[in-house]
Amino acid sequence: DYGPAPENTDLVRAWLERHDGRFGHFIDGAFRPSGGTFDVFEPATGRHLASVTQGTSADVDDAVRAARAAQPGWAALSGHDRARHLYALARHVQKHARFLSVLESLDNGKPIRESRDIDIPLVARHFYHHAGWAELLEDEFPSARPVGVCGQIIPWNFPLLMLAWKVAPALAAGNTVVLKPAEYTPLTALAFAELAADCGLPAGVLNIVTGDGSTGAAIVGHGDIDKIAFTGSTEVGRIIRRQTAGTGKFLTLELGGKSPFIVFADADLDAAVEGVVDAIWFNQGQVCCAGARILVAEAVAERFETRLKARMKTLRIGDPLDKCTDVGAIVHPVQLDRIRKLVSQGAREGAVLHQTDAPEGCFFPPTLAVGVEPASTLAREEIFGPVATLTEFRTPEDAVALANNTKYGLAASVWSENVNLCLDIAAQVKAGVVWVNCTNIFDAGAGFGGYRESGYGREGGREGMMAYLSHPEPKASGTEPEV
Ligand code: NAD
Repeated sequence: DYGPAPENTDLVRAWLERHDGRFGHFIDGAFRPSGGTFDVFEPATGRHLASVTQGTSADVDDAVRAARAAQPGWAALSGHDRARHLYALARHVQKHARFLSVLESLDNGKPIRESRDIDIPLVARHFYHHAGWAELLEDEFPSARPVGVCGQIIPWNFPLLMLAWKVAPALAAGNTVVLKPAEYTPLTALAFAELAADCGLPAGVLNIVTGDGSTGAAIVGHGDIDKIAFTGSTEVGRIIRRQTAGTGKFLTLELGGKSPFIVFADADLDAAVEGVVDAIWFNQGQVCCAGARILVAEAVAERFETRLKARMKTLRIGDPLDKCTDVGAIVHPVQLDRIRKLVSQGAREGAVLHQTDAPEGCFFPPTLAVGVEPASTLAREEIFGPVATLTEFRTPEDAVALANNTKYGLAASVWSENVNLCLDIAAQVKAGVVWVNCTNIFDAGAGFGGYRESGYGREGGREGMMAYLSHPEPKASGTEPEV
């Protein structure tokens, strides 16, 4: 129960003070100061939070050397011993959940209710799940080997959760890691690395190098990294794909999206309205699989729109540390500016905008755009903000055609009381994940990832494990009985 009370930031303030507000990279089990730094701010207030090191190629080299040296020892541990480390990490995350949640909300601007109830519990869950995989690996994939040293580059929208998605399977499989968090939100990754060392993770197994895109590029281009795992924009994903072509590096890419949210006439409309709140106003819409394109059956469109607008009025926008807040701050003024420009462009192209109020500062009001042409900016471009479009459809065929009219293919959700219709539509929508009568549900046991310009490879579940193994042929499924 973390309200805006000052004591809720005490753990974070104490941690920042202990480090004098300055952080080196975390390499070979300790913080290492290096050259230049950059500043990290709280988006909600603009206050300075910390100074963090801008990673150079030499820093990446150091981190890769530490990871390479640690890898054989880490891989030589039994699956059970690696599992013990992963369980310890999960328990440590739970023990420090309050600290990590508050730090995440300060650094990213997301509501504390989300970091407390979603991000941090899912981080712990991911490590628990992958501890299980470490135990089972030898049995499930007897011929598999770890790929070696993994370079991992993550975005700012779910800073610690994206770290967990990458680090947990990598470590479970016996790999070591050099991870670069996003430059807007590097703090929970640094805190996590420190917690990992506290609970006995061997030095060099997890290394964090902070910095911007140039640091990421140094990781991608490093000759002694065996696999690159990237989550971020489609644009950078393309650059990485070109940069790694022909190098023999393993590569997985989790990129952008523009997911459809399809409401049929027989859907429970109140549940679907609540679904929109989770789909596009969760995390300020800065979610790669956000349900940004609401497609609603003509027969109920008017009723649905009225209820949705009424619900929008009750959303509370503001202080991320207030546990009553539904929509927090946009991660950075640069992102805010990007959202504003796309929405203004949409209005110029004829969209009618329905918006709620938002405080001054780095906030953008929840926005519903109607009258959006399929070829227009708001219908096509990933906005990565709290902006949904509302489009009517007539028949299920129209709904599928509209849903697939995108260059992306990450996720979709389908709302109807008719399960047969839902399953039929799910099979026709080109998306890596299709949710039925729910949205934005993540499970460590289920593979997540996209088609088309949303990237390739899966994270989570069996496929996610296989992405961190070489030669992961599954065990033979048993001999056929002789006849
Ligand atoms: P971004 O691509 O600009 O940055 C992502 C990361 O890549 C950051 O750490 C950044 O420093 C680094 N980077 C930038 N240029 C690089 C380069 N040339 N080489 C290597 N690394 C480089 O994306 P962003 O703005 O931080 O994140 C938002 C985007 O991420 C959205 O498009 C969103 O859809 C996508 N995303 C996808 C998923 C998914 O699972 N598919 C999840 C979260 C976010």
